[in-house]
Amino acid sequence: MEEIRCYGCGAILQSDDVKKIGYVPKSSLNKDHVLCKRCFRMKNYHELQETPLTKDDFLRILQYIGEKDCLVVYVIDLFDFNGSMVTGLNRHIGGNDILVLANKRDILPKSLKDYPIEMWVRRQLKEYGIYPKGVVITSSIKNYNFDTIFDTIQKLRKGRDVYVVGVTNVGKSTFINALLKNYTQDHDMMITTSEFPGTTLDLIEIPFDEHSSLFDSPGIINEDQFAHIIPVQLLDKILPKSEVRPINYVIDPNQSFYIGGLARVDFLSGKQQSWQFYFSKNLKIHRTKLEKADDLYNRHKTLTPELEEIKTVDQMKKYHHKVNKNQDIVISGLGFIRVNDQCEIDVYVPDKVSVFIRESLI
Ligand code: GDP
Repeated sequence: MEEIRCYGCGAILQSDDVKKIGYVPKSSLNKDHVLCKRCFRMKNYHELQETPLTKDDFLRILQYIGEKDCLVVYVIDLFDFNGSMVTGLNRHIGGNDILVLANKRDILPKSLKDYPIEMWVRRQLKEYGIYPKGVVITSSIKNYNFDTIFDTIQKLRKGRDVYVVGVTNVGKSTFINALLKNYTQDHDMMITTSEFPGTTLDLIEIPFDEHSSLFDSPGIINEDQFAHIIPVQLLDKILPKSEVRPINYVIDPNQSFYIGGLARVDFLSGKQQSWQFYFSKNLKIHRTKLEKADDLYNRHKTLTPELEEIKTVDQMKKYHHKVNKNQDIVISGLGFIRVNDQCEIDVYVPDKVSVFIRESLI
């Protein structure tokens, strides 16, 4: 039988096993653009069906790419840099050349120039042992720097195939769709995108010419992404959609901040200083005195009932950090606070969410 692929995710369609990738009822198979059940439900009802892609599958795909001589295009999310990291990427892809597309630039302040962002990305990547041949700052929803991306891909691939990789939710599908719209005649090949992680399954091929193609690979939810712990409908609410406007606070020790019902940051010691909060505007920042902070959460849970299962703040995990001037307190996947002086802090977050300190992005 001729192999038919899902118009959404590229999976080979089958009508034998409803639990397996690419399932579609037999009656839908002869339609023009067939979507598998999973893509159909996601597109029409915004409903996420559990992705069957395991970490082992993901590593297998990377290893497969590692066996080719190709250019790897690695899409990352500028707003969730460490959630975008694939540990050991370089090793898995066999040292192939990497072009990094640093996506969602539109979420960072417009006033920031691209060059310092690129330098920051390169320094951060170095810590993960990734030395890309190129870094392009982009925004897939704005087609930002697309000509540069296309030119750079052509320059770096030297006639070879290109594999696009990345964890879920970094905007890889949006990028591929935009690429198709802008650079090919064949709009029918568009793949679906969604708010939810786990969109793309299987490799999808977009030919450059008779000898080489661009392949889109499926992503996986990284353990460091908030997507890992939060119900998908909430994810949409807590991730910023457009330019994040920082909220500035001049603060004194023994003050505490709630960021929605999802995180709490206590300023324990340090001089009076200013902190800039970079979070989705849907997450209300609430300042209180440290001594009142427990009560505020425990008694009223006023802030946002994001995580129903967390009833009191003691159920959250606590991190202690010493922070230096011009560093960010990063609450992985949620956002960050830019700190302008030395301080000592405690951060409370749901279990599995990481908190760390890094060189300031802004
Ligand atoms: P994938 O899982 O990596 O394929 O990610 P998607 O393409 O499905 O995108 C995940 C979410 O990020 C969706 O809500 C997209 O609309 C959003 N997104 C993708 N690219 C951008 C971008 O450049 N800027 C912003 N603000 N959002 C983006």
